[in-house]
Amino acid sequence: MTAHERVRLAQEIRAGTASATAHLATTLTRIEAENPRLNAYNELLAESARAEAESADRNRAGLLAGLTIAVKDNIATSVGHTTCSSKMLKNYRSPYEATIITRLREAGAVFVGKTNLDEFAMGSSTENSAFGMSRNPWDTTRVPGGSSGGSAVAMAAGLCDIALGSDTGGSIRQPAALCGVVGLKPTYGRVSRYGLVAFGSSLDQIGPITSSVRDAAAVLQVIAGHDPRDSTSASLPVDDYVGELDVPVRHLRVGVPREYLSDANDPRVNTAVREAAEVYRRLGATIVEGIELPLTDVGISTYYVIAPAEASSNLARFDGIRYGHRAQLTAGEDLFDLYAKSRAEGFGPEVQRRIMIGTYVLSSGYYDAYYRRALQVRRLIKNEFDRAFERCDILLGPTSPMPAFVAGGKSDPLSMYLCDVYTVNTNIAGIPGISLPGGMAEENGVRLPIGIQLQAKPFAESLLLRAARMYESATLWHGMRPTR
Ligand code: GLN
Repeated sequence: MTAHERVRLAQEIRAGTASATAHLATTLTRIEAENPRLNAYNELLAESARAEAESADRNRAGLLAGLTIAVKDNIATSVGHTTCSSKMLKNYRSPYEATIITRLREAGAVFVGKTNLDEFAMGSSTENSAFGMSRNPWDTTRVPGGSSGGSAVAMAAGLCDIALGSDTGGSIRQPAALCGVVGLKPTYGRVSRYGLVAFGSSLDQIGPITSSVRDAAAVLQVIAGHDPRDSTSASLPVDDYVGELDVPVRHLRVGVPREYLSDANDPRVNTAVREAAEVYRRLGATIVEGIELPLTDVGISTYYVIAPAEASSNLARFDGIRYGHRAQLTAGEDLFDLYAKSRAEGFGPEVQRRIMIGTYVLSSGYYDAYYRRALQVRRLIKNEFDRAFERCDILLGPTSPMPAFVAGGKSDPLSMYLCDVYTVNTNIAGIPGISLPGGMAEENGVRLPIGIQLQAKPFAESLLLRAARMYESATLWHGMRPTR
């Protein structure tokens, strides 16, 4: 194992040669020094974390013993707040915790804090956070990606051992790519969503952001599996992701769909993908020619109908009465005013935009033209992937069409949505995808990470992780960290 594999530290904590308490103290000191500059964390959970670290030192057990975990602030924890980086939930304390939090605690984890995100996970840069954007540690004038930007920053800057994100259309993989770390979105249904604040319920999945493939495998090992509290969680058995990880895939067939190497991409991104294909070829894989995914382009329009439709329904509960910020009424105002004012004050502009789009595409006059149509295209996209996976095991392409962009550079919502072109179809089809550090772009003396994405068949996480590990062990990108 190498230094960027944090599970090695868990091994030492189990053996008693490293102290979880001391490690936590070091991490908290580092966070205090760095967080004002990076704004990765919304809140630290120092007190409960100390108790968890002490119990890790006492028990000396669990796959993740004593490892510090950063939790995206749309995942419910029973300590601290769960804000979704929204004014609507600024003071919200969850009375229960997400299933994955319970499972991770049982594996010895230490929850160090809640991380910043685009409000309600809507965005690709964290600029939609009500608490200010997070900053990319490679260049603080740039965005870290989103929506799980705070988690990716915490991971890249060494402010945690493992981070958790949620991915509805790319929110784990894209910030991982832009910050130079690993991000895994599991198959829809592989991980319980109980306790994840819903955005697009048919698309959402929780997954890890880590500095190595082995750490991602270890986290998935702990959080995957059926949960009686989430009826969409699959009851399929969980593979031995960790045990199988170092077994290279024999006769691996890798497809690089033509559409993934678009001229619209930053050329350095296409170079990274071509070089990754070459790495696989040298490792003995077959590069399958002629794989086509012509519906790649319509993913964005399909996603930006389905996701807002589901969001408009999920966010209806935040009305100032059942949940969330309640506005002050003045004399003569009624219940309708209370709803309208609370929602206008509580939700930021992007969330309001999504609710309006979603309500529109679900309205009786437009349902057939937009929503039903999007569901039909969703099926076609799924079929297209099924056909591709008859000929290859893994699809290789970019995670994001460009490296991290300068903050404020995509103020037009449509240009922001286009960042998601290579990630949304993974969610639309429900398949697993992983982003890996796959290159570096130099720009005016700063280095910016480039991510490559691998996709696989539903529930083929073991194969996906093994293929990812093959690439990782043959390249040096994973070891690179921003200087400071
Ligand atoms: N960027 C996409 C959006 O804004 C994806 C977000 C996500 O995966 N949560 O909807």
